[in-house]
Amino acid sequence: MHIPTPTPSKAARSPFHNKVVCVTGGAGFVGSHMCRRLLKDGAHVTCLDNLDTGRHGNIAALEARTSFSFIQHDINDPLPPGLPEFDYIFNLACPASPVHYQRDPVFTALTCSRGVFNLLERAHRDGALLLQASTSEIYGDPLIHPQPESYWGNVNSCGTRSCYDEGKRFAETLIRDFGTRYGVPIRIARIFNTYGPHMQFDDGRVVSNFVVQALKGQPLTIYGDGSQTRSFCYVDDLVEGLLRLAASRTTGPDPVNLGNPEEFTVGELAELVLSSTGSLSPLVHRPLPQDDPKRRRPDITRAKKILGWAPATPLSAGLLQTIDEFRQRLELSLPLRTA
Ligand code: NAD
Ligand code: UDP
Repeated sequence: MHIPTPTPSKAARSPFHNKVVCVTGGAGFVGSHMCRRLLKDGAHVTCLDNLDTGRHGNIAALEARTSFSFIQHDINDPLPPGLPEFDYIFNLACPASPVHYQRDPVFTALTCSRGVFNLLERAHRDGALLLQASTSEIYGDPLIHPQPESYWGNVNSCGTRSCYDEGKRFAETLIRDFGTRYGVPIRIARIFNTYGPHMQFDDGRVVSNFVVQALKGQPLTIYGDGSQTRSFCYVDDLVEGLLRLAASRTTGPDPVNLGNPEEFTVGELAELVLSSTGSLSPLVHRPLPQDDPKRRRPDITRAKKILGWAPATPLSAGLLQTIDEFRQRLELSLPLRTA
């Protein structure tokens, strides 16, 4: 009697194995980690990125893989010909740092509207699931703390942050309505402040600024008095949450918060970066930007319940990994001055 060789348990196999996945913004900070993880899970990955805030260096190590391809493309334009039929589209394309999204606010707003529409049309054509990287910024300067998904937010529609905050709010509406009207499966992740390796030195967000400043022996720039809070999620934890959300068969189109509920003041973060780098850099204060949210912390009850997800990396540990990678990259370009 022929006894078939047991095949590896399907349960052990990633739901993305052999799936054809598009990652827009894949050369950026989060996108590059997403591409790497999807390849590890056996997916075929097409990365679309206009390299506005992304770096080719972030994906250089992936390019030798036959299951990876990079195409320089702006999602505001119709998708280029010759792409495969996608099973999943992860839309991460959008400048995310206030410095960068405010540089060309019209481009940012269009990326969140016209760009998203182009991807929805493609998802409809291919029968793909579209996952949108939305943001905690849709809660604005929140009046409720911590922020659950049910909170409608406190957002200025005519301020310097509006192109991003309102852009991402519009994107959520468009995606949800398009999904309902045309039967496109969609997922919306509301991502809270995330940090880690591959952030650009000039990204402008607080973790990368402080780490670069500490490693270069320059003053750490605290905006305002440093009492404002954020909750920082390590990028690997975020990617795990995004993949679980996309793979979930039971999650509907309702948004899901993904972030680390550990809350720190910006002043506390500065101290932690100094102690983790061993830097003797001083602290300096700079004016607080307009509409800078005072407090931010995710309520992740929903993510825990429907995805069984919670971040595993404490800030102290994630910072050490980030500092290591920044140190290596910086050492290639200039001599460092630390204690
Ligand atoms: P990032 O700036 O490092 O990456 C964004 C990527 O998108 C870059 O590679 C950029 O070149 C690309 N891009 C921008 N506009 C594009 C366009 N029109 N067409 C094609 N490519 C375009 O930012 P990130 O931190 O990696 O953020 C990724 C996504 O996650 C963004 O959508 C952002 O809004 C969202 N998000 C991030 C955070 C965070 O803390 N990192 C928090 C909330 C939401
Ligand atoms: N921030 C700071 N110094 C910096 C960069 C940012 O004090 O060099 C502050 C900023 O004003 C905000 C917080 O750190 O209160 C987080 O800023 P970031 O730009 O990282 O993200 P976001 O404001 O979008 O949450």
